[in-house]
Amino acid sequence: MEPEKKFDYDYIIIGSGFGGSVSAMRLGEKGYRVAVLEKGRRYRTEDFPCTNWNVRKSLWMPGLGLYGIFALTFLRHVFVLHGAGVGGGSLNYCNQLLVPPDEVFEKPEWGSGDWKARLAPFYEVARGMLGANPSPRVGTADEILADIGREIRGEDTFHINDVGVFFGEPDKTVPDPYFNGEGPDRTGCTFCGACIVGCRVGGKNTLDKNYLYLAEHKHGVEIIPETEATVSP
Ligand SMILES: Cc1cc2nc3c(=O)[nH]c(=O)nc-3n(C[C@H](O)[C@H](O)[C@H](O)COP(=O)(O)OP(=O)(O)OC[C@H]3O[C@@H](n4cnc5c(N)ncnc54)[C@H](O)[C@@H]3O)c2cc1C
Ligand code: SF4
Repeated sequence: MEPEKKFDYDYIIIGSGFGGSVSAMRLGEKGYRVAVLEKGRRYRTEDFPCTNWNVRKSLWMPGLGLYGIFALTFLRHVFVLHGAGVGGGSLNYCNQLLVPPDEVFEKPEWGSGDWKARLAPFYEVARGMLGANPSPRVGTADEILADIGREIRGEDTFHINDVGVFFGEPDKTVPDPYFNGEGPDRTGCTFCGACIVGCRVGGKNTLDKNYLYLAEHKHGVEIIPETEATVSP
C-alpha cells in the first residue's frame, strides 16, 4: 500500500499558467509552503510534437485519452482556446509581451488613480522575468504586413513587438542567461516558427523556464502535475 501523501501547505494554487506561476514563485520567495496542482502533464523540450497533426500530444481532451497542450472549451456563447500542462498557456502562446496602450488605462473601469504609472514597475519586472526582447529577424510575413500598412496608409502602425524568446546563437545551448546562473540552461531560438505547437528547441521562455523553475528549484514550491482540483458534489 502506498504511504499516504503528506498534504500540508500554506497555499495551494490551482493551475500553473501565468497567474499560478507568478503566485507560486512570489509566495515561495516569501517563505510560504506552496503547492501547485496542474491537471496537465509536465512536458520536456523534447516531448513537444513536431506538428499539431500529432493529436495525442497536441490536443487536451482527456475524455478521448488525449493529454496534449491545447485545450478547447465550448461554452454557450464563446469558444475558448487555452493551454494545459505545467506552464499552462505559456506552452502554446505566441510569446507576444505587450504593455497595453494608453487608451486601455484611460478606461473608466479602472476607477480613480494613475494605473499606467502604478503598474509600470510591475510590467518591468514581468518583462524581465519573461525575457521580453524584439526579434532580431524580420520575416516575409512581417514584410507583407508592413506592405499592407503602407498600402492603407497605416505604416506607422507596423512595428516589431517584444517577445519572450531567448535569441542567443541559434540551436546553441548556454548556461542560464537570465537569472545569474540560477535558471536552467537555454538554447537559442532557431526561428522554426513552431511556437504554438510547443517549442522543441528550448528557445521559448515558457513559465517552466522562469517563474516555475525558480519556484521549484530555488523556493521549494511543489508542482504536482496530472492532478485536477475538483469540487466535491
Ligand atoms: C494560441 C494562443 C496564443 C496566445 N498568444 C498570446 C500572446 O502572444 N501574448 C499574450 O499575452 N497572451 C497570449 N495568449 C493568451 C494567454 O496564453 C492567456 O491569457 C494566459 O495563458 C492566461 O493565463 P492564466 O494563468 O489565466 O491561465 P492558463 O495559462 O490557461 O493556465 C491555467 C492552467 O490551469 C490548469 N487548470 C485549469 N483547471 C484546473 C484544475 N481544476 N485543476 C488543476 N489544474 C487546472 C490548466 O491545465 C492550465 O495549465 C494566447 C493564448 C492562446 C490560446
Ligand atoms: S525555436 Fe521555434 S518554437 Fe522555439 S521560440 Fe524559436 S521559433 Fe518558436
